[in-house]
Amino acid sequence: MAVGLCLYFTNSGSRIVNSNGIIPKSKISLASNTVMQKAQLVTNTIKSPANEFPFPVSPKILGEEEKMALIESCTKKLKENNAVLIAHYYTDPEIQSLAEATGGFVGDSLEMAKFGANHSSDTLVIAGVKFMGETSKMLSPHKKVIMPTLEATCSLDIGCPAKEFGEFIAKHPDRTVVVYANTSAAVKAQADWVITSSIAVDVIKHLMAKGEKILWAPDKHLGRYIQKETGADMLLWDGYCVVHDEFKHQALVTTKALFPDAAILVHPESPENIIQLADHVGSTSQLIKAAKDLPHQQLIVATDKGIFHKMQQAAPDKELIIAPTAGEGATCKSCAQCPWMKMNQLTNMEQVFESEHLERGNNEIFVEKSLIEKAMRPLARMIAFKG
Ligand code: SF4
Repeated sequence: MAVGLCLYFTNSGSRIVNSNGIIPKSKISLASNTVMQKAQLVTNTIKSPANEFPFPVSPKILGEEEKMALIESCTKKLKENNAVLIAHYYTDPEIQSLAEATGGFVGDSLEMAKFGANHSSDTLVIAGVKFMGETSKMLSPHKKVIMPTLEATCSLDIGCPAKEFGEFIAKHPDRTVVVYANTSAAVKAQADWVITSSIAVDVIKHLMAKGEKILWAPDKHLGRYIQKETGADMLLWDGYCVVHDEFKHQALVTTKALFPDAAILVHPESPENIIQLADHVGSTSQLIKAAKDLPHQQLIVATDKGIFHKMQQAAPDKELIIAPTAGEGATCKSCAQCPWMKMNQLTNMEQVFESEHLERGNNEIFVEKSLIEKAMRPLARMIAFKG
């Protein structure tokens, strides 16, 4: 029974979250982590400057008629402006559908930037968060890159300001600087390597084989996961994603007990005790592939629930269940949905094409030429990496 979309659209969390205590302990089993932590793991003592993130106000909910009119108008304006819509997996389903229906693309941040660079359109509309717009601009410097809102940011980006990061690097000149794609252009420009979660383990193994010690930023959970998988000597910046950081271990154990035949799919930005429960750990694209390939009919998914749109397309007969973000004594803030991805709405998408915005560059991404030159070096290494 394919009820994943139903759970997605109507999710109140009650089926999953309020189930603590009703499952006998004998039914609960944890996935064991067999990878030994051999090398030194030193955790950075610098606290992220932004441990409390000002969440944006949730957008207004639109009626069906209003939505249809906006979809029609956006479709027309994309065509009139020779623009292509490129959306991230975590955006709302209607944004992803609009991208698909208009010849655009839905993917992860690197796939989005590559698609934009290879597309014939002069204008790229990036539905995602600001660092994705910047990466697209860096790979397509001669194109106009616009976003429905430039205020859509990311807790990993906010938590790793370029100046403080530069000071941190300066204290550790013996380390190779590897940063996650979820960083500003100014942070990427200071790195030796930029990597996505899909190639993170392979790149660090490659660097380790050359005897290099790593300075990693900004996601501490992903850094810890890579370190455990590779045994590399890694110094970690103390950043985190507000969505993945909120998945709760005990509530996930309870959910698994409720659905004992389900596989647990986890994005490695999640805390270690969530990753320990996973049947499959991977990037967004890898999780979608696993949803299709795994034999399980039920899948408990620990990442932003926006991914359900593509995951359900890839595995239409499977039941998708959101991993719980709140357990006993806890409350969720993000509730498995990135507050900044959610800022990409049909309303601001349509407004982006109004002449006052287009002409004044209100929603346009600009990256300094000198910054592009510096940031493209580690980005180019990532693109060329063959594993
Ligand atoms: S889901 Fe997390 S990592 Fe992705 S954009 Fe939102 S805050 Fe950043």
